Amino acid sequence: MHHFKIPLLLLSSILWIVSGTEASIPFAFEAAALLAASPRSNHVACLRSSGLTPWPPSGNFKDKGYKLAIVIDDFGYRPVNENKILQLPLPISIAILPHAPYARSMAIKAHNQGREILIHLPMAPLSKQPLERDTLHPQMGVEEIQRIIRQAIINVPYAVGMNNHMGSAMTSNLPAMKKVMQVLDQYQLYFLDSLTISNSQVSRAAQGTGSKL
Ligand SMILES: [Zn+2]
Repeated sequence: MHHFKIPLLLLSSILWIVSGTEASIPFAFEAAALLAASPRSNHVACLRSSGLTPWPPSGNFKDKGYKLAIVIDDFGYRPVNENKILQLPLPISIAILPHAPYARSMAIKAHNQGREILIHLPMAPLSKQPLERDTLHPQMGVEEIQRIIRQAIINVPYAVGMNNHMGSAMTSNLPAMKKVMQVLDQYQLYFLDSLTISNSQVSRAAQGTGSKL
């Protein structure tokens, strides 16, 4: 795809977000095909969204008014590989795990490059997997969710949005996601659904709150 090779194997996951009708973007399919070969293709998402990092002006992609944002997540643990990604001359947004050892330094570095920063907030999956510290669970009260999000904002400076790390149990739970949206509303962070489950309740949960999706 183009002449940049994204070091896919270095990454545990990438999100591609397309606004518009993704069916008319062969490019997105090419990307998706590449990603299907990646270790965690469940993190591939095509969403209709806006206000995200625009793809550089090229070809008829832009003429049609589409935007493609690339978010690379799970940042904060592998500085050598992550620095290689930051060297790519592409408008890649970075989603950082708030309790990762390099969370703060990567956020500062990526922000200084003009990149958009997201908090990659760990949320409970349905399957049994090793969990990050402060993983959100559906049973948590709004105060605990608030404490976790407040700490994540401290640990990941310059973040303007949030997406979920794992989270199939959390994002499919409407009352739980309503609590998250209530807290995000206070901090003016947008939420990007990583779509780790097909019956995600995220957009329903955001209804009636000021939270942007
Ligand atoms: Zn993740």
